[in-house]
Amino acid sequence: MNWLTNFVRPKLRALVARKEAPENLWLKCPNCEQMLFHRDLEASQQVCTHCEHHLRIRPAARLEALFDDGKYDSHPLPKTPIDPLRFRDRKRYTDRLKEAQAEIGPHAEALVVASGNIGGHATVAAVCDFAFMGGSMGIAVGEGILMAASLAIEKAAPLVVFSASGGARMQEAILSLMQMPRTTIAVQRVKEAGLPYIVVLTDPTTGGVTASFAMLGDIHIAEPGALIGFSGQRVIQDTIRETLPPGFQRAEYQFDHGMVDMIVHRHKMRETLIRITDLLLKRPPAETPAAA
Ligand SMILES: [Zn+2]
Repeated sequence: MNWLTNFVRPKLRALVARKEAPENLWLKCPNCEQMLFHRDLEASQQVCTHCEHHLRIRPAARLEALFDDGKYDSHPLPKTPIDPLRFRDRKRYTDRLKEAQAEIGPHAEALVVASGNIGGHATVAAVCDFAFMGGSMGIAVGEGILMAASLAIEKAAPLVVFSASGGARMQEAILSLMQMPRTTIAVQRVKEAGLPYIVVLTDPTTGGVTASFAMLGDIHIAEPGALIGFSGQRVIQDTIRETLPPGFQRAEYQFDHGMVDMIVHRHKMRETLIRITDLLLKRPPAETPAAA
């Protein structure tokens, strides 16, 4: 009997059971609702192959597409106090951090700092990770921007920031708001060193990040369709009691109203950044090595 229940039955079950496809192999485009195969999406840098809708992309994939030959150095964020206010809402803040890190990776935070060559020239890049607690800015992200600015000055390299954030990290209260002036000063130091500071606004860039380092670029590039604003559409609508125009706070709307200098397709981002930094640093265009 044991042999039957323990050995034969599971074998039979396995034979009969329908093999379910892993859920994440296919993804529905939120814009055109066509099904997208994960490998095709990876190859297209998370741009829908049917309608060109730009889905969110993780920092590693973005950095790989940005730097020459896909090679770059990662710079771990400086150590910062964890949960200085011992904050707790429905969950402890430390538990929320642990959960996010279990998903994203140990010591992960909402910002990734990297350096390498873009078009043959040293560049420092800081990329927000929306997948980590909505890309919210706390002390760690603030310190990361400060570090990226110092690195840029040290290397006499342009600083490129890819913003994506829901705003300040409310679990760090006033300490997260303090990152707004701190990152503003960090950006100012880069500018005083005569180095380009370029912001690429990606979906979504809102709140305290919009109100600080994301709106201080020498040039503001936005990805198509990205949501860019300070407070949410519903809050504004309820405050002014007026219906907002279609496409409000989208990259195209912000471009039409002068908040954004250019809208650039993700596939053209690398060459655009090379061209802009060459122009700003008045250097002759280098022989451009291919991206990975
Ligand atoms: Zn689509």
